[in-house]
Amino acid sequence: MSIFSRFLPKRKPPEVKNNIPKEKANIKKTFGVYCHSHHGTSGEKLCPKCTALLATVMTRMNRCRYGITKPICDKCEFTGECFGHQQAREFLKIMQSGSKKMYLKHPVMAVKHKLAGMGVDYARYEQQKKLDDKVKAKEKAAKERAKDRKDKK
Ligand SMILES: [Zn+2]
Repeated sequence: MSIFSRFLPKRKPPEVKNNIPKEKANIKKTFGVYCHSHHGTSGEKLCPKCTALLATVMTRMNRCRYGITKPICDKCEFTGECFGHQQAREFLKIMQSGSKKMYLKHPVMAVKHKLAGMGVDYARYEQQKKLDDKVKAKEKAAKERAKDRKDKK
């Protein structure tokens, strides 16, 4: 941020936040933590298997059906379809076992990731509620139409 930014009018925060870069960073870190302790790697380097899986995850994330409103991958119900079932299983295993270690190594990031996951559950609940309301409204409209028809007869 430049020192002049405080003199500029405050911009409205964007409606939809793009969390993908943050999630990518989190996944990369988690993979690193996991691979270092399970596959004996160190530093930026991951073993070939983890590197390949990570590359797959990154490309699939760019093509996510939800776009930037996507839930975090380890909370998404389409992980299997998206990554392939074998890879999804491996991915979830890494994220689960890695996340425990993340609390020790990168506690702030781990907590944020956890919160993002909880946000997804809430968002899904809201979505379902909206859908239910829509169905109810449709049923009501259909009933009213039926009634109108009857009245005309
Ligand atoms: Zn590895």
